[in-house]
Amino acid sequence: MHSDAMHDEAPHILAPYVRVGVQDATLFLGFGSIRQPVRNRSLWEPLLRLADHFLEPRTRREASDHLRASHGVDATTAEAAMLLLESGNCLIPTHTYDRADRYSRHALFYELSGADAERVQRRLSESHVVLLGCGGIGSLMAVTLATAGVGELTLVDSDHVELSNLTRQFLFTESDVGLPKAEALSRELRRRNPSCGAHPVAHDVAASTDLEHLPESDLLVVSADSPGLTKMVNAHCVASETAWLNACYVNDIAVWGPLVVPGFTGCWDCRTLTARPPEDDESDVAALIARVNGRYQAPSNGPVNMLASSLAALDVLRHLGRFGTPASLNRRVGVWSHDLTLDQQSVQRDPACDTCASLIPSPQSEGSR
Ligand SMILES: [Zn+2]
Repeated sequence: MHSDAMHDEAPHILAPYVRVGVQDATLFLGFGSIRQPVRNRSLWEPLLRLADHFLEPRTRREASDHLRASHGVDATTAEAAMLLLESGNCLIPTHTYDRADRYSRHALFYELSGADAERVQRRLSESHVVLLGCGGIGSLMAVTLATAGVGELTLVDSDHVELSNLTRQFLFTESDVGLPKAEALSRELRRRNPSCGAHPVAHDVAASTDLEHLPESDLLVVSADSPGLTKMVNAHCVASETAWLNACYVNDIAVWGPLVVPGFTGCWDCRTLTARPPEDDESDVAALIARVNGRYQAPSNGPVNMLASSLAALDVLRHLGRFGTPASLNRRVGVWSHDLTLDQQSVQRDPACDTCASLIPSPQSEGSR
């Protein structure tokens, strides 16, 4: 059901994303995740007449009256057809779709999920995201968020653009080689959406005091891989009750999550999410692991970076705009690029977690908003 239940007197139209078709003796109303199969053939014509009538702005009452008066449809059938249209998010307020608006296609996407597009867009424009890391994943997430209308982005990275970055950090060009990534990225974001405030910070985040010096934000994204960073960010974000999300790749697996919303979800420390050296081992194992891992160089690949960054950015938009449900809420997800296996680690809240147990659980979980 649409979040704004359709008032009898507010004019609506059939959403432009609604298509209908018949396959295997079933009428499908809408495609994608809103698809509704209608097997009852006596409903087909009333439903299609109603959809057709909503090609022009109509109120619920007008449409229902039309169906009964002009086509002799009984009240029960007319109501059933109307409920099908409404429950599939098929009807949207008349003003929602303005082709000339730069966000109009995204507005349809938000309506498709049952949200009020205008409110979603306003929430995004009022949001501030801090990105730690402006590399393959951070730069692609940044451009996705900036062009979607997120109001403020703080871009944190002390690295400079290198020639070997250009296979995946597509916003940089050969002429950017040697420039600070945070600054080159800010320049590109402003070119693409001048209404997005892009703030470069060309420094390392090495200690929690560095995090405290960053501006307050609605969400923090970690796509940098310096040792201990995720644990440090988690402690900072739980203490400041700031949402945060990790996005990365593990060789050829695109990984994102968990989306940590302190007080609502599990945190990075609620579960063991990554392999660690043994802590109480007296042999040389820990030292040998450190030695072997010391020369690790990630095989970073453009498409795998795109996969992780796009799914992570969609979750950031869902969280900030409050439409749909972020896929990485309470879980860490990996897409294995070689065979499309989906790997999921549950990150439910641990009531005994050293980091987040003291936060009072909110009465309403994020998933039920
Ligand atoms: Zn925790």
